[in-house]
Amino acid sequence: MAYTPMIQQYLTIKSQYKDAFLFFRLGDFYEMFFEDAIKASQELEITLTSRDGGGEERVPMCGVPYHSAAMYIERLIEKGYKVAICEQVEDPKTAKGVVRREVVQLITPGTVMEGKQLEEKANNYLASLTSFEDGTYGFAYTDLTTGESRMTMLHSFEDVFNEIYSIGTKEIVVATEDKEQCQSLKERYALTISCEDETMIPPSCESIVSHLKQEKLLVTFGRLLNYLIKTQRRNLAHLQPVELYEVDAHMKIDVYSKRNLELTETIRTKGKAGSLFWLLDETMTAMGGRLLKQWIDRPLLDREKIEQRLHMVEQLLMHYFERQELREYLRGVYDLERLAGRVAFGNVNARDLIQLKKSLKQVPFISTLLMNMHDEHIQSFAQHLDACEDLVQLLEEAIEENPPLSVKDGGIIKDGYNETLDRFRDASRNGKTWIAQLEAKERELTGIKSLKIGYNRVFGYYIEVTKANLHLLPEGRYERKQTLANAERFVTKELKEKEALILEAEEKSMELEYELFVSIREQVKQYIVRLQKLAKYISQLDVLQCFATVSEKYNYCKPQFSDDRRLVIQQGRHPVVEKVLGSNVYVPNDCYMDAEREMLLITGPNMSGKSTYMRQIALTAIMAQIGCFVPAQEAILPIFDQVFTRIGAADDLVAGQSTFMVEMLEARHAIVHATQNSLILFDEIGRGTSTYDGMALAQAMIEYIHDRIGAKTLFSTHYHELTALERRLPRLKNVHVSAIEENGTVIFLHKIKEGPADKSYGIHVAQLAKLPLDLIQRAEQILREFETNSTGVVKENKETFEQLSMFAEQHHEERSSVSKKEKEVIKRIQSLQLLDMTPLEAM
Ligand code: ADP
Repeated sequence: MAYTPMIQQYLTIKSQYKDAFLFFRLGDFYEMFFEDAIKASQELEITLTSRDGGGEERVPMCGVPYHSAAMYIERLIEKGYKVAICEQVEDPKTAKGVVRREVVQLITPGTVMEGKQLEEKANNYLASLTSFEDGTYGFAYTDLTTGESRMTMLHSFEDVFNEIYSIGTKEIVVATEDKEQCQSLKERYALTISCEDETMIPPSCESIVSHLKQEKLLVTFGRLLNYLIKTQRRNLAHLQPVELYEVDAHMKIDVYSKRNLELTETIRTKGKAGSLFWLLDETMTAMGGRLLKQWIDRPLLDREKIEQRLHMVEQLLMHYFERQELREYLRGVYDLERLAGRVAFGNVNARDLIQLKKSLKQVPFISTLLMNMHDEHIQSFAQHLDACEDLVQLLEEAIEENPPLSVKDGGIIKDGYNETLDRFRDASRNGKTWIAQLEAKERELTGIKSLKIGYNRVFGYYIEVTKANLHLLPEGRYERKQTLANAERFVTKELKEKEALILEAEEKSMELEYELFVSIREQVKQYIVRLQKLAKYISQLDVLQCFATVSEKYNYCKPQFSDDRRLVIQQGRHPVVEKVLGSNVYVPNDCYMDAEREMLLITGPNMSGKSTYMRQIALTAIMAQIGCFVPAQEAILPIFDQVFTRIGAADDLVAGQSTFMVEMLEARHAIVHATQNSLILFDEIGRGTSTYDGMALAQAMIEYIHDRIGAKTLFSTHYHELTALERRLPRLKNVHVSAIEENGTVIFLHKIKEGPADKSYGIHVAQLAKLPLDLIQRAEQILREFETNSTGVVKENKETFEQLSMFAEQHHEERSSVSKKEKEVIKRIQSLQLLDMTPLEAM
């Protein structure tokens, strides 16, 4: 048996969209069939039914109502699926045979235009990757909602990883033959991988790539564009010219370090709260929020550019009142970038246009305010702000202040904008006055005081008379229309004529309004480029005021830059820890490094603040290079080309690698790529393997960096032995974090001091934690042995084990005499992994 024509049509279309759910429009529903139906019913938790499709077995089917489809689509996209929207493209009433249907849009994770998937303050990028035979990669990405695109050539797959992490894309478009290679990306970042093999630049897009000369770039971007055109099937007029970038033009921070330093998300929760972005985000607009994120991701290297930003921040910081006012104006600016995107897509409604107008109206105020700050740079910045007055005027004249959401039911266009519309409206308004007059006239004529004229959609206008008054109606003139429980409704010839006129005028006026609205929408399209430019400046201004606001709020200072790679930080703080703990609790620390003092070896007990100190240096450098003031009383910094970190975060088991392997990979990354202008933070390197193994590696790394790289390095360690290196390595200095004991408890002072830490510190803490006295004494003995005998390691080690097992025996014997509760406690203590514990935990 053959399938019905409709199912055949379904199968034909579905065969072109194998990797998507096909939402097949059937009346008021989108239906799914076969495999799609089975999978969708599970994913969306909707009922699976079936339908006779002409074949031998019934066809599995499930569906979602048209009006609530958006919610279901969103759910599928969130899970990384794609959804092809297949609509009826001819009127079912006039269609012969099966209604013609076509896919009008393919929605994918990288191309969603609305819904809660789109975070206000985050870009949603669709990326594209092309691998070339010479081992290079073309990498491009576009945010369809804002029309921004960027692209670059990368020289290793490692760089591809970095870029993908840094832009946080959800979907990547590759050539079919590259799909295999990208599986690792899929696993690591849960990316949707899509294939597109056409790479010719589509003619309609030539203008946005006209500045690209290199074939490789064109191929890479061509792939992205073809995919966009195939999925979106509509005007992409808002795509802006692609911006070419070089990864080397910005401070490079690899994936590991971005995560370790918690720049835009925290390691544990993957949430924003607690990240540098979270701390800094005092932006007032969504666009500003997105730009802030981009800036944090790409700190500058160009000193002049950094100083320009810092200068503006300083100005905005000094002009307190102006800044408050500016923030208020910015609050009134909606997301111009995404509005412009929706204008191009043709799905703005009248309310969006009002938002646009309100936003634009803020611009002249902002300009005046900036001009009045009397600073050359600020003034020249202000001159770039284009208030698009002509557009404001158009919207002011045309669009009602509080229009409805629907663009088809009228109520959008202002009186006076269009003569014909005014005439229709007059006709319908006059008609309504006439009807009010008719009511008075009829009452008088019949003497029925309760007579009234009403309207409903089915019967139109009618005259209603209660049953009790029916006898008062004269014969002939009234035609019965409808009978209610205690009233009758009538029409007259006169009323019917007028009704036709009124309804016609209303219908025509709604139609005309829609036409006018569409034409205004088209006119707005011509402003897309200007709006995008304006959006750029507004978002910059927003981030700069954000920096000023934050800097004032937390008392940051303007950093200076040194030419001789000197680093001087006075009273520096870790911005996030300081915010969380409070500035009265946080202990500020200095840091001094120069050509004679390139590496600091930091010792000190666990939990004393070593890694916080190291992070604070890195964050200070990053903040300075994005143009923000820094958490210190005074800061002079070199401009760092790269920041590398290996900071203990034992959670990277995603790729199935051991913690130690991850540690070594991160260390390798730094050692291979760092230059003398880089900043390296190594926290407790070697901890993941046996003591001597780890210590050997740590020492070798220190020597390597010291002798061959010369990068500014902060190296924390609990291997006290390493502090002896200071004598051999001239540019390495020992520092430690101090702690004191008071009334039997350890107090961490969190203060960085010169010189190595007190070596028996761990044992001291163990003592405070009231471990058995003989155990402590034994530890002290072992320590002394280690100190005096550095060659007899193996032997000593063995002895230690023997001694330890002797303890165990002893414990065993004691057991019988202890109480049940004590037994519990002893059991717990015995099960503790002391070597893996911090002193605080031990206590
Ligand atoms: P370590 O790396 O030495 O184990 P951390 O840097 O992780 O120690 O710091 C441990 C805790 O000490 C932090 O969570 C923080 O609460 C606190 N801390 C660190 N540095 C400071 C400081 N300068 N002032 C106040 N508290 C601090």
